[in-house]
Amino acid sequence: MRPAADQREPRHREAYSQFMPEPDPLTPHVHHEPLAGRSVFIAPGRAERPDDAALGATGDDPRAWCPFCAGNESRTPPASCRAPADESVPWRARIVPNHYPVAADVIPHRAVSAARRVAHGIHDVVVESAAHERSVLAIAEDHWRDVWVLVRRRLADLAARGDLTWAGVFKNSGPRAGASLEHVHSQLVGLDLVPTALATEVAAAAAAVDPFGDLIAAARREGRIVREAGDLVVLVPHAPRQPLETWIMPVTPEAFFHATSPGRAAALADLTRWFVARLVRLAPAADYNWWLHQLPFAGHDDIAARWHWHLEILPRITPLAGFELATGCHISVMTPLESARRLRDD
Ligand SMILES: [Zn+2]
Ligand SMILES: [Zn+2]
Repeated sequence: MRPAADQREPRHREAYSQFMPEPDPLTPHVHHEPLAGRSVFIAPGRAERPDDAALGATGDDPRAWCPFCAGNESRTPPASCRAPADESVPWRARIVPNHYPVAADVIPHRAVSAARRVAHGIHDVVVESAAHERSVLAIAEDHWRDVWVLVRRRLADLAARGDLTWAGVFKNSGPRAGASLEHVHSQLVGLDLVPTALATEVAAAAAAVDPFGDLIAAARREGRIVREAGDLVVLVPHAPRQPLETWIMPVTPEAFFHATSPGRAAALADLTRWFVARLVRLAPAADYNWWLHQLPFAGHDDIAARWHWHLEILPRITPLAGFELATGCHISVMTPLESARRLRDD
């Protein structure tokens, strides 16, 4: 039954009604499309982002142009943290503000409407190597662990600020995964909203007794566990969007990656490195993305004891095309069981 007009119209009218010109169009905004339930970050400043070609990348010494190489620290804003913390020795990883952020670290001022607001938050770059490397496999194992311990620390700092609602780290590796600069790096965002993907997972978790326990048990039953290391499990999900899609999570509940032990952060580092090595063997041309889903910082005490932070890794083997855009559904050309077999090397 259709809702009465007086129930349905004000909400949508309010959503669209206050689209007024912005005094500063370069400040990133979030626009919410109520019909689609979709949020879009409108960030015109990102059109100015350089890629390697724009920076003049050639076969010459990359330190001549790459903003992430050691020696070029003045080409990025000052670092918020670095590894090692001791500034008397050279850095091996550093976290710096993104020059072209999707969210601005400004005092939150007026939400124009439920449908349009300033994107308040932080957007960092995690420079994962001082040398101009393209792959995480080129980073020494102990340095790669330091990167994840550093990310954990930065996420803890963001949780402690009190003005952000959720934060996570993500990686674009290779041009088809959206990387514009080849120097090995990740990005870290802290937002003052719960992103749609998290809201969906939180709602599903709220409706289940043991959502992640069930997910892991099903993977065990069906042969989709790929690897286990300590308290971390690597599995192929029930509905992978791409061949070889892989999730990594603790087997026992832990809502926040920033609250995990440094040892477990290091164990995650080792597993991501293992995954990339497998992917290079199984699909040498594949680019990939990964992203960390931890619980929003506050307001979910009811599910915090049942939530498992998790890293979702999506190889980019087939493109996202019309079917995916039209339906919101994905097509994968490999069964989840076959993906698990190949990753295990059965
Ligand atoms: Zn570089
Ligand atoms: Zn997730």
